[in-house]
This record gives sequence, structure tokens and C-alpha cells, in this order.
Amino acid sequence: MAVSGRGPYDPQNIFAKILRGEIPCRKIYENDHALAFHDIAPKAPVHVLIIPKGAYVSFADFSSTASDAEIAGFTRAVGQVASLLGLEDAGYRLLSNMGMAAGQEVPHFHIHLFGGAALGPMLHRH
Ligand code: 5GP
Repeated sequence: MAVSGRGPYDPQNIFAKILRGEIPCRKIYENDHALAFHDIAPKAPVHVLIIPKGAYVSFADFSSTASDAEIAGFTRAVGQVASLLGLEDAGYRLLSNMGMAAGQEVPHFHIHLFGGAALGPMLHRH
């Protein structure tokens, strides 16, 4: 079910539980400010989620309230993951759903990284 991207932050969301080690994930990469792991229901041959370690509901929250160090650490993590997965030559897609219209389901900011195939049109056409 889609959620508001505006909070308040719910510490019981599934990615908060992953960050606390309460439920497992298939980890790919981690730095001081970010964790990257495989999506549980992949929508492309490569489908990775990169999340900040801090408690941010959405891109709107993260971009306006995270520290410069968190934003830098998180952004570099996204690039590192793409590089580690060998996707730079073929290319890849980044996507972040913010709030109801985008269909955000998990209220902890995350970027989806898709790759491993030609990804088709950018958006579903209505
Ligand atoms: P959203 O719709 O919020 O942008 O994306 C949430 C993503 O989280 C979905 O692609 C969904 O498959 C993924 N997801 C939901 N629960 C889990 C989980 O427990 N583990 C992992 N690894 N991914 C999850």
C-alpha cells in the first residue's frame, strides 16, 4: 500500500528493521551513511535498494534535513554499488518513489538501482 512521503518516521518500517539487523538482507555494500542490498522482489535482473542509515521518510525528507556528510556518503554509495556490480558500461537506472502518487510503499528513503538488461521506457504509459 502506498504511503505518504512526509512522515512522521515510523521506526517499525521494514528497512529500519533491516538496519537494526532484526531481519536479514542480501547486503552488497555499506559505508558510514548508506546500506545497499538486493530487492526481495526484483523487477529487473539487477534490482538493488540503497538506503541511508539515518531515519528519513523520503527523498523530500532526506534532501531537506540530512547533513552534507550524509548526503555525500549516500550519493557516493549509489555510484559505488553501480561500479561494484559492473553496470557502468552497459548502463543502469536509478529511481526513487516519493509518496502516494509515486506508489512509495516503504516509508524509509531508498533509491532503486535497476540493471542487467535493456530497461524499456522510463515510465508506464497510461
Ligand atoms: P517502494 O515502492 O517503496 O519504492 O519500494 C519498496 C521496495 O522494497 C519494493 O521494491 C519491495 O520489493 C522492497 N521490499 C519490501 N520489503 C522488503 C524486504 O523485506 N526486503 C527487501 N530486500 N526488499 C523489500
